[in-house]
Amino acid sequence: MTPDELKAALVEAVARRRAARALGGAMTRRLKTGNLLIEAEAAQRCDLCGAVAETRPYGPRGENVCFSCGMKDRAAAERAFKQRMDPT
Ligand SMILES: [Zn+2]
Repeated sequence: MTPDELKAALVEAVARRRAARALGGAMTRRLKTGNLLIEAEAAQRCDLCGAVAETRPYGPRGENVCFSCGMKDRAAAERAFKQRMDPT
């Protein structure tokens, strides 16, 4: 990553964090229409491997995990995803 790419990535991460704060934190959310809106989120630390990446709460016990860790236990990730989609 060149210094210019790093600067651009940092500027984008700050903009995403500001947008997330303006929306009250969570960017992935259920709309009043009932539709689930899934958006890119600022990079966070994966609870399982420690990598800084876009994470989702699809770990075996609800951990925030990177895509790679999420795919290590695909069944658990799918359960967590379905739970999010339809929490009833
Ligand atoms: Zn991970």
